[in-house]
Amino acid sequence: MWRLIRPDARSVWEFDEVKKIFYNYRAILKGKKLARYLIFKKIPVNIDLKNSSSENLWKIHQKIFSKIVRGNYLEEFSNKNNISDQKYSYLDLKIELLRRIMLNCHLCERNCNVNRINNEKGYCRIGKFGRVYSAHLHFGEEAPLIPSGTIFFTGCTFSCVFCQNYDISTNPQEGSLIDPKKLAAYANSLARDEKAKNINYVSPLAHTYGIVSSMKYQNVNVAQLWNSNHYCSLDTMKIISDLFDIWLPDFKYGNDDCALRLSNAKNYWKIITRNHKIIYESKGEIIIRHLVMPNHLECCTKPILEWISKNIPNVLVNIMAQYHPEHLVRRYPNKFKDINRTPTNTEVQDAKKFADELGIHWRAVS
Ligand code: SF4
Repeated sequence: MWRLIRPDARSVWEFDEVKKIFYNYRAILKGKKLARYLIFKKIPVNIDLKNSSSENLWKIHQKIFSKIVRGNYLEEFSNKNNISDQKYSYLDLKIELLRRIMLNCHLCERNCNVNRINNEKGYCRIGKFGRVYSAHLHFGEEAPLIPSGTIFFTGCTFSCVFCQNYDISTNPQEGSLIDPKKLAAYANSLARDEKAKNINYVSPLAHTYGIVSSMKYQNVNVAQLWNSNHYCSLDTMKIISDLFDIWLPDFKYGNDDCALRLSNAKNYWKIITRNHKIIYESKGEIIIRHLVMPNHLECCTKPILEWISKNIPNVLVNIMAQYHPEHLVRRYPNKFKDINRTPTNTEVQDAKKFADELGIHWRAVS
């Protein structure tokens, strides 16, 4: 029998797969481990960041990254003091590399090549720093994450015709302009005053530079959560894949045609499977979100679930049933006839049955 009621924030920890997959996150919640960004401030980088070549910076980054992913390198630094303001840390190195990525922006796979440090704008229409629509505790996320300290950014690197938040995603000029200090103030307050279990950056990709820069001013031991369409460039993945404590990436489409038609995203399958593998291989703690869309079970849901079971089996998958026609689907119902309704119960149950056959962990979070 399927569980009809979602587990709550307490009972979800009774699931063995949640305890196993969220091992480090749970330790952070209990105060037994530090969030990664706090440890990264303690790892010294003995180099002049501003005057070194990008090649050299990437080389040093790769060296530290490998040590982190391979072994117990983080433990070595957990109890050390933060390094002095006069010296650079691994977090500073990441910020500098992101600044250089922004000089010819390729944070995402649209590769616009605009100088966002000079406020030039590409496809996402976001300048050096973006805007925050809201920052508040959210109780509607997956059970292990509740209450989640969500920070919603405006604008997006995708153009989903069915976007369920299109008022926010299509208006990058909405909300309050933020800089790293302001963003850190939101995060510190959510974690310290409101007791958020994590800081959940919603639609973060075009804001990666501002988010990682804000970690310099954040000081609470709280897990950092990446909640994204996951259309990150390879360079962005290199920077973030050892940094975030929890991952909440979308996996929307099982093929490139659907992705191009419905989100205007090219090469979706190759990019998204690559990025999922990178975080998995970096020992990321992951909940993948898959929104079941009507008439897309065979072309999207099933290939996605099959790929997950074969390639990254130790993740949680939220099989989401809440799709409803929105945005351009409502405006052009004939053009998007296939997705102009909610999914039927049969479609959602078929998706879950298929996931069960593949041994996918979905019950604790769907
Ligand atoms: S974040 Fe992506 S869409 Fe925005 S300017 Fe950079 S490459 Fe272009």
